[in-house]
Amino acid sequence: MQTQTEINMTNTFVPSFEKSPLPELVERQRTFFATGKTRSYEFRMEALKKLQVILEKYEAEISEALRVDLGKPMLEAYSTEVAYIKEDLRYVMKRLKKWSRPQKVSSPMVSWPARSKILPEPFGNTLIISPWNYPFQLTVSPLIGAIAAGNTAILKPSEATPKTQELLVRLINATFAPEYVYCVGGGVEESTALLEHKFDFIFFTGSTRVGKIVALKAAKHLTPVCLELGGKSPCIVDKNIDLKTTTRRIAWGKFLNAGQSCIAPDYVLVHKDIYEAFAKELTTTITEFYGKDPHASDSLGRIVSTDHFDRLQKLVDPSKVIMSSPSVREEKFMAPTVMKDVGWNDKVMEEEIFGPLLPLIPYSDLNEVMKNIQSRPKPLALYLFSTDSAIQEKVLTNLSYGGACVNDTMVHLTNPLLPFGGVGDSGVGSYHGRQSFDLFSHRKSVMVKPFWGDATMRYAPYTGWKLKLIRFFLG
Ligand code: NAD
Repeated sequence: MQTQTEINMTNTFVPSFEKSPLPELVERQRTFFATGKTRSYEFRMEALKKLQVILEKYEAEISEALRVDLGKPMLEAYSTEVAYIKEDLRYVMKRLKKWSRPQKVSSPMVSWPARSKILPEPFGNTLIISPWNYPFQLTVSPLIGAIAAGNTAILKPSEATPKTQELLVRLINATFAPEYVYCVGGGVEESTALLEHKFDFIFFTGSTRVGKIVALKAAKHLTPVCLELGGKSPCIVDKNIDLKTTTRRIAWGKFLNAGQSCIAPDYVLVHKDIYEAFAKELTTTITEFYGKDPHASDSLGRIVSTDHFDRLQKLVDPSKVIMSSPSVREEKFMAPTVMKDVGWNDKVMEEEIFGPLLPLIPYSDLNEVMKNIQSRPKPLALYLFSTDSAIQEKVLTNLSYGGACVNDTMVHLTNPLLPFGGVGDSGVGSYHGRQSFDLFSHRKSVMVKPFWGDATMRYAPYTGWKLKLIRFFLG
């Protein structure tokens, strides 16, 4: 028997507005939101359960789409996309009732007698635009926040991963009524058309370049935005480290998803005292991970497109390569590549690499390193490997970054208690865990006053003794 939350894929909904869907879709979502149905706790929980059903029933299809689009190894597809969302859902559903309650806060003496509270309310109709590198996770994770807070949502996943986009369109639109949650296919044209409409909140994940376009379009309607953007995330390796563990953790973070992670360590700054040993150990580690012939490895993903493959090849300076093996353009396969003795002004340092190419830069003066990082756009992630607590303190407090991880890479995003987001060029706003609920909510401030205890000192006519009393209370 089919339960309420199961999906009947044979009943895939075909919207009646197929010819010119967008204006009607946005309008229908606004009208549906106004009915108030999306706000109830039961309705939100039911919608989150439907997402759970998608994950339970279609895990194999999701992994297959990710394999076709990005050559994602099964372990990566499961751990970074499917299991990640499963855990996200479990975490949110367990706490949603508590988060939805009015939050009582104290009131200052000047307003006594009074009770104060914060009431979360959904923004309304929201738009979620997502990129191709974790195309399932980065579409569904913000959707969890939107649903949990009680919004409607239109999703626009990336056209660069067409199999996953098509699957998302099919699963989401078969699961939810279009006036509540709808997934739009297509590419830049569809995103551009959507952005012409008024939304109550826009969540965008992608490049800094497109983030600026989204922010400009949103400004026209004064729509609040969360921009989860990219950039070059530095990794500093001090001399006080465990060499083997350091190279394993850096190689893992760099070559996961073939280097196409927004928080992948982009380049590594290595203390000169351990520079040669680090380079040697790193190449040994990479060989241990992917073998002598990485092309034959089942543990390496593929580059998303030949355009990106060609862009990456142009960043390689053959005179500085200390480790590589032949790449295969027609398979969009790029071997893990390490470049040594890279300088701050080299071509590879001009843009986010977003691929399996790792430049090493030697340093002798940490202050110089910090000055160089400070003079560049603020990174999404910062990595530091050091057991020296003074160095940790100095780097963590004096540099600006979205989030940092000491003695590991990427894993800081697995903690739902840590807000995930950028700063400056790497983004605006943050989500994950409770922050996702808060991000998609407006927090209404409310003070409730009784009729008794009416302090007359604030009323005219203003007199000397009233001023004295006010000075006494306000200081
Ligand atoms: P992108 O900016 O090219 O595209 C992202 C989305 O925007 C896609 O859905 C695309 O269709 C849409 N889009 C593209 N051009 C548009 C336009 N002119 N107007 C409106 N919409 C448009 O990004 P990408 O190449 O898909 O992703 C890679 C970038 O995303 C990297 O910079 C990476 O660091 C960043 N990223 C950031 C995070 C994060 O959480 N901060 C996560 C993943 C990726």
